[in-house]
Amino acid sequence: MKVYKFGGASVKDAKGVQNVLHVLQTVGYTDTLLVISAMGKTTNALEMVIKHYFEKSNELNASLLEVKKYHYQILDELFNNEEHEVYFDVNNHFADLEYFIRSNKSPNYNFVYDQIVSYGEIISTTIVSHYFKAQGLTNNWLDVRNFVKTDTTYRDAVVDWNTTQELITKGVNRNALNITQGFLGSDPNSFTTTLGREGSDYTAAIFAYCLDAESVTIWKDVPGVLNADPRYFENATLLHQISYREAIELAFYGATVIHPKTLQPLQKKEIPLYVKSFVNPMLAGTSVSKGADLEPQTSCFIVKKNQLLLSLSSLDFSFIMEENISEIFALLHQFKIKVSLIQNTAISFSICIEDKFTNFEALKTILSQKFSVSYNENVSLYTIRHFDKAASELVEKDKTVLVKQISRETLQLVTKE
Ligand code: ASP
Ligand code: MG
Repeated sequence: MKVYKFGGASVKDAKGVQNVLHVLQTVGYTDTLLVISAMGKTTNALEMVIKHYFEKSNELNASLLEVKKYHYQILDELFNNEEHEVYFDVNNHFADLEYFIRSNKSPNYNFVYDQIVSYGEIISTTIVSHYFKAQGLTNNWLDVRNFVKTDTTYRDAVVDWNTTQELITKGVNRNALNITQGFLGSDPNSFTTTLGREGSDYTAAIFAYCLDAESVTIWKDVPGVLNADPRYFENATLLHQISYREAIELAFYGATVIHPKTLQPLQKKEIPLYVKSFVNPMLAGTSVSKGADLEPQTSCFIVKKNQLLLSLSSLDFSFIMEENISEIFALLHQFKIKVSLIQNTAISFSICIEDKFTNFEALKTILSQKFSVSYNENVSLYTIRHFDKAASELVEKDKTVLVKQISRETLQLVTKE
């Protein structure tokens, strides 16, 4: 069985959905499970709905209407027949969403976020499944929340692997075409949870692991994993083959082409991962598999924008030692702030962090009681794997370097543009 993941960009309009069908007709689709994201930028649009909801803004209805219009436009182009049952299903999903918004009593932002944002994936897969059926491709639409079980950490849920394994083993027909949602799961009370932004790749890996799939393919609008993000670097080149280890490193430092959580389950069962172009499905793309000899021969550049460089020093000239450091890390963990670089001296400690859940202010207040705190907002973290002199000069050019760190394989720079 194969697992295919199609992200938001692949289904951003009617043409995109038609192209997904074309990809399947080109590469085959029996014994396949498709994991599909919300269409285009729907998740961002639903985040606006959530914001307006919590701010009690009178733009709430307008933002919701925008999400509806976008989907009905795609429906009209794909079906051109308002009697088709897809309209009935999509109407129902929007009605459920509106009912939730009207009747919700929970003040818990993260909980409400997951209940609302999940409609993006539910509706996109409903549309794709009906469209495929209308084109003669029989398929099973699966509600992923009946398969991927998680804890109650809304917006960053942790998978309950045992229950998930059991449900997938029992409930997924391996000899069919299955269509399900990425990014979503459900907690023990069956409330919707999400696995973190861009988490659909991870969903594909969860299914692949539990199904002992033969491979996972992530279909992208780029030809595969490139050695640099073409938005920030010229002359990006394709990496044909890389090891799990290299892919994990690249993803961890911010190469957005693969979600970092995706690789670990695949690596455990040595399930190969392909990253391919949905524009040219016959091209080989990148393959990620086992092998120490799959080190890229070129430097790989990764950029993470919008980072924070936080420096702490002791108030009384005492050393920052293991005890302080463990306390600092416990707080970072508690506030769900991710650390991507660490540097320390006797009395100061600097970290480059990403504040995904806007918890930095709260953390700062606590840290200020014990340390002198200084920080730079909006810095960039550049990571160069397999660096050489030319590579580091290229990145340092025109920038103020705040921190530079070199290890055997990796050069990292925190910069202000
Ligand atoms: N739709 C979700 C997001 O945009 C999940 C995904 O695309 O992977 O974050
Ligand atoms: Mg997306």
